[in-house]
Amino acid sequence: MRHVDGNAMGGLLWEVFGAEMTHQLGCCAGCGAVNPLATLTVYRDAPGEVARCPACGTVSIVVVRMPHAIRVTIEGVRWLQIHTG
Ligand SMILES: [Zn+2]
Repeated sequence: MRHVDGNAMGGLLWEVFGAEMTHQLGCCAGCGAVNPLATLTVYRDAPGEVARCPACGTVSIVVVRMPHAIRVTIEGVRWLQIHTG
């Protein structure tokens, strides 16, 4: 399946979190790797996007766009660190 990097998910994450997220750090629940979200491997599978850990392949974040909502699953992220300036 075709994949891109985490920057491709940046627009959707901006809608969800209200901030630029690609440079924020996330810790993989599968292997503990800490990486900026931009480094996630993103698979586009309409209507959703699936982001996997670049180190172990664990599904980190799933974003599904619905008619009047966006559903986000972040089960594969142990923690997400959002820089506050
Ligand atoms: Zn991992």
